[in-house]
Amino acid sequence: MSENSLYDLVIVGGGPGGLSAGIYAMRAALKTVLVEKGVAGGQVTMSDEVENYPGFSHISGAELSMKFAEHAQACDLEVVSDEVTAIEPGLEYHTVRLAGGVVYSTHAVILATGGSPRKLGIPGEDDYYGKGVSYCAVCDGFFFRDKTVMVVGGGDTATEEALYLAKIARKVYIAHRRDAFRASMILQKRVEADCNIEVLWNTVLTEVKADDSGVCGAGLKDTQTGEERSMDLDGVFIFIGFDPNNELVPAGIKKNADGYVVTDEKCETQIPGIFVIGDLREKYARQIVVSAGDGCTAALAAAHLVEMKRSPADVCEAPPSMLE
Ligand code: NAP
Repeated sequence: MSENSLYDLVIVGGGPGGLSAGIYAMRAALKTVLVEKGVAGGQVTMSDEVENYPGFSHISGAELSMKFAEHAQACDLEVVSDEVTAIEPGLEYHTVRLAGGVVYSTHAVILATGGSPRKLGIPGEDDYYGKGVSYCAVCDGFFFRDKTVMVVGGGDTATEEALYLAKIARKVYIAHRRDAFRASMILQKRVEADCNIEVLWNTVLTEVKADDSGVCGAGLKDTQTGEERSMDLDGVFIFIGFDPNNELVPAGIKKNADGYVVTDEKCETQIPGIFVIGDLREKYARQIVVSAGDGCTAALAAAHLVEMKRSPADVCEAPPSMLE
């Protein structure tokens, strides 16, 4: 790892978007480093099954992530395990500061920090996290074999995770605040057909209840009648969407009302050379394939920008085949 040195491109985040950007950047001969604070792969590593990434009719999220990481490694992408603490835009170079003290100067930055699971904000949710409250069925489902669990939410994630838990738990309830799912039709049909799953329509959680051994139930409220009741449960899995991880987005970059970054068609923000991709970017569909596509777009745009900025003597000519 080169410390305090000049890069063409610094990528922040090692999910499908960041790794795809890394693959395209290496093929465009950019001096690139990818910084990831956790495990490379991102949010998709938590998915039990991925069935809509072209070329793979069925693959686990962990395996698909591993394939992305292996592909990036085969392109000799430098991956650094550290936390980025600040991105400071500059006229000539941007500065990227790492928790470990390393400082990079770079022509371009691609931010691919994704999002984090949204919380309900109800009593008991934080207190019993890891003791029956979970945001990841693949990570924690194992502990609920033959038990009764509740999934909260009505989107793709909630229904997918409920289907996963239904293979392990004795009974899965889905509590959804409306009377119709937001999830794709294929997932809705699978939920309907799974006799281990019961949907509680127009239902919200008001409280997570626990005893000495962890979660033991939840307070529920009917959103139509206002009627309240309690239910005995062993676990509560919450999948009510994501909030963008936008803490590193420099001031002055436009975000929408929900905190997602607004970019142009090159995934570039209002600050030249700062790109935002994947789930952090405002977009219609938050899918793995879209994040990967964003990574390609931003890396090619960064390559063009770097080529324009480099002095003619510095230009490293990539063979045409590398840019295809
Ligand atoms: P989402 O689509 O935003 O759905 C969130 C769900 O949680 C909605 O049903 C919403 O209810 C409910 N909700 C939100 N806040 C709530 C609250 N405070 N209390 C109770 N319920 C609440 O989120 P997601 O399911 O995590 O999906 C995020 C994105 O990833 C989507 O674009 C999705 O298509 C994509 N995704 C795709 C796949 C796949 O294709 N295999 C898998 C997972 C995720 P309302 O419906 O009433 O708003």
